Parts: sequence; C-alpha cells; structure tokens
Amino acid sequence: MPVAQIVEVGLRDGLQNETGELSLKDRYQLVKKLSVSGLKRIELGSFVSPKAIPQMQCVPELTKKVLLAQRKGSLPKNTIYSAFVPNQKGFEKAAQCGLQEISFFVSCTESFSQKNINMSIKDSLKVLNFICQKARSLKIKVRVYLSAAFACPYEGNVAPAKVARLADRIMQEGVFELSVSDTIGVAVYTDVLSLMNPLLKKTPASKIALHFHDTRGMALANVLAGLETGVKVFDASIGGLGGCPYAPGASGNIATEDMVYMLEKMNFQTGVQISDLIKTTHYLEKKLNRTLPAKLRLRAI
Ligand code: MG
Repeated sequence: MPVAQIVEVGLRDGLQNETGELSLKDRYQLVKKLSVSGLKRIELGSFVSPKAIPQMQCVPELTKKVLLAQRKGSLPKNTIYSAFVPNQKGFEKAAQCGLQEISFFVSCTESFSQKNINMSIKDSLKVLNFICQKARSLKIKVRVYLSAAFACPYEGNVAPAKVARLADRIMQEGVFELSVSDTIGVAVYTDVLSLMNPLLKKTPASKIALHFHDTRGMALANVLAGLETGVKVFDASIGGLGGCPYAPGASGNIATEDMVYMLEKMNFQTGVQISDLIKTTHYLEKKLNRTLPAKLRLRAI
C-alpha cells in the first residue's frame, strides 16, 4: 500500500489564530492525543515573541515537557516533534529545548514577507542560511514553509516560475523539506498542477510537502492534485483549527481527520486512527468553546 505522511500543524498554524486560550496542560494533553492517534510528525507551536503572537507564549515550556515525556516513554518514541522559528533568536531557543527539527518561513511575495516576519525575502534567505549552518552543526533538520505560493493577500496571483526559482534557491541551503503553502486558500486543482510542473523540474517530489487552507472548500481537491504529481506529505490541522493572523480572511487548514479519511479510503497508508482524531476534535471543541470546521464526525465513519 502506498504511504502518505501527515504533518500535524494544528498547535501552530491552528492555535495561533484561535481566540480561545489553551493552557499548557491542555496543549500537552492535545499533543498526547495526537501522538497516540498515530500521527508521526507534530508541530508544537512557534518560538516567536509573545508580543507578536501571545498564543505561543507557553511553547518553550510545552516543548521541554513533551521531549522529557518522550524520553521517559510516556509519548511514542518514533514521533517527530518540531516547532516553527521566525528568526535566529527563535532558532537558538528551539535548539536549547532539544528539538531535532524546526521549520522556517520564506514568502513568495515581498508584501507578505514584510507583514508576516517584518523582513524582505532577501533578508529571510540570509536568516535561513544562518539557521541552516547552525542546524547542520547541531544535526537539526530544517523544513521551510514557502508561503503565499499560489497567491498573496496583498499582491494577488504569484507566477509558478517565480515560486520554482525561489524553491530551488531555498533547497540549496540543505533544507530537507519544502512545504509549499496556499496560505490564503485560493488555489484550485489545476493551479496545483500548474505550479508542480515547473517546481518538479528542479525539486524532487520526495522533498515537497503541500499545505492547504480550506478557505473555499478546495483543499481536498488540491491534495488529489498533489498526489497525482507524486507528493506524499501533506500538512493538516486537527479539526481544521485556525487560519493565519496576517492573511485576512484565511480560514483553517484542511482538517486532519477529513484528509486521513480520504487518503485511507484511497488505500494510502497513513498510520493514523481516524476515530482517535475525531475524539480529539471533540475534546478541543469543549476546550475552545466553539465548533470546529472538520466535516468528519463520529457518526460518519
Ligand atoms: Mg498556513
């Protein structure tokens, strides 16, 4: 059976845009539930200034707690925990906490780069270079989110050739995976095919992940386009949490349970228990006091 991999980004991309607070204890419980469900790659949050994103304040503490629990055997040994870092400072903190994988952000447009990380694309590539050098010496893996890869909330459509060039430039730094992101959820099936065409000429499908937001209900169709071009790694948020605080109107990521449902029914092996995911979404709905957008409910499986 072919294998598809899911990167759970709910604790970062999801929670950073939720108004409801989730305590350190609740977040740890969430990590535990997600890990037990069989998810092998889980982002714990961002090592970002609490002034920029207050929801991420407890991430260093959460990271230490999670990695300690994993060492002690209370969390699965083979789950990879990672976190997002927006700059050198964030990287240093993440490394101090003992993370073996981090993610960084490069935008395809200048406006989105400025609004999101307060840096030009050129400067973000310099930071990436610094981070990758440090990461190599510490044996930390670096993943990059290539944001606004289809369209930008400020500049409109982005040319696939431009994205492919930037992708190639990023991969030269020794990045292990590039998460090509439709940050504002505008892409449709054919857009994904149009972007993958120039992208795959330089970057192999095995190094590409796709990151879709379900703003217009197109995310699953876009995953299909990705699968057709050979991509096997997809980002998702439990329950379809969140959005993006810097992308007006962006709704949550594709819901993990909805994507796992589709992949498993298409005979892709994900290693994830759907019923566990649905129960986790129920848990989260109670904690956040809101209904999450995931379509799959217990009665539906
Ligand atoms: Mg996103």
